[in-house]
Amino acid sequence: MTNFQLFRTIQEVRDWRLNQIVNGHSVGFVPTMGALHEGHLTLVRESLNENDKTVVSIFVNPSQFAPTEDLESYPRTLEADLEQLAGLDCSESIVVFVPTVREMYPSGIPLDVSLQKGAFVTVLGVSEQLEGKFRPQFFRGVATVVCKLFNIVYPNNAYFGSKDIQQTIVVRRMVKDLLIPTNIRVILTCREKSGLAMSSRNQYLSSETKMKASQIYRSLLAAKEVYDTENCTAEDLESAVLETLKEYTNGVKASWNLEYVCVNEYETLDELNSSEKVDKTKPIIVSLAIHVPRATTGTARLIDNIVLGAKSL
Ligand code: AMP
Repeated sequence: MTNFQLFRTIQEVRDWRLNQIVNGHSVGFVPTMGALHEGHLTLVRESLNENDKTVVSIFVNPSQFAPTEDLESYPRTLEADLEQLAGLDCSESIVVFVPTVREMYPSGIPLDVSLQKGAFVTVLGVSEQLEGKFRPQFFRGVATVVCKLFNIVYPNNAYFGSKDIQQTIVVRRMVKDLLIPTNIRVILTCREKSGLAMSSRNQYLSSETKMKASQIYRSLLAAKEVYDTENCTAEDLESAVLETLKEYTNGVKASWNLEYVCVNEYETLDELNSSEKVDKTKPIIVSLAIHVPRATTGTARLIDNIVLGAKSL
C-alpha cells in the first residue's frame, strides 16, 4: 500500500509538474536506478526537507552500461523500493517516476556506442579520467539520461551522492554549461556500520565478502591519516591504500582485483603528479575501483572515495 503517485509516462510527470508551478511548489529530484538502500533514502529525506515535493525516478539506464557490463543482472526490486519510499516520513510529498526504456529512448538505444544515433550529452574534460578511463561510455550515458530527466522533471534541486563523486562533477558541469536552472546538491556517502559504502551492487556479495569489503573504506581512511599527519605526495596516499588492501589484492590467495587507485584535484579532476607534495589549499579526491568476488560466479565492481581538504561538497 503506497500513499504517493506513481507515474510511468513523461506526459504524466509534465502535467503534474505544471500543477506544482501553478501552486508555487518547489520540486526536488532524486534520480536512481532502483534497488534502493539507505544511501538513496538519505538523498530522498534531504530532498523532502528542502522542497515541497520530491520526485524519485527509478530507471536502469541502458546507455551507461557497456555491452560487457551487468545491465541484464542489475538488481530490479520495484515493489521493495516502493515500500521503502512509502515508509518515509512525509512520503505523501513523493512522486515516483518509473519510465520504460522506450519512453526514455523513443528511437531505441543499442549498447554498442558505434551503433548509436541521435543526440547524446558529453561533458568533456571531466568524463575521461578515473571511472571514465575504465568505463568509456559511462558518463555520456549518465549525462544524457540526467539531462533527459531534468527536461522532464524540471527540478529546483537535484540530489546526488558523493559515493559517485565524478558523477556529481560531471552533472554540475553539464548544468553550468547547458544553463540548466537546477541546483545540484551533493550528499555524503552513507555507509554500513562496517564502513562499507552502501551500494545496490552489494547485493551481489556474500555476507563474508561484505565484511571483508569494509577494508576498502579502511584503506581510504589510511590515506586520510597520512594526509592529516604529514606533508605527503599523491604516491604516499596511494601507498597507504595499497598497503591496507594488500591482504586481498596481492599474493597467491588474493582474489580481489584493484582496478585503480588515484588521487585527483576535486574541482578539475586533474590527476596529481605522484611525486609532488600535495597542495593542501586545494581539495583532493582519493578514489578506487575494485572487483570483489560475487556470492555466485564472477565479480562485483565496487567504487569508493574520500574527499580531503574540502570545506563543503
Ligand atoms: P544509483 O541508483 O546507484 O544510480 O544511485 C542513485 C543516487 O544515489 C546517486 O546519486 C548515487 O550517488 C546515490 N548513492 C548511491 N549510493 C549511495 C550511498 N551509499 N550514499 C549516498 N548516496 C548514494
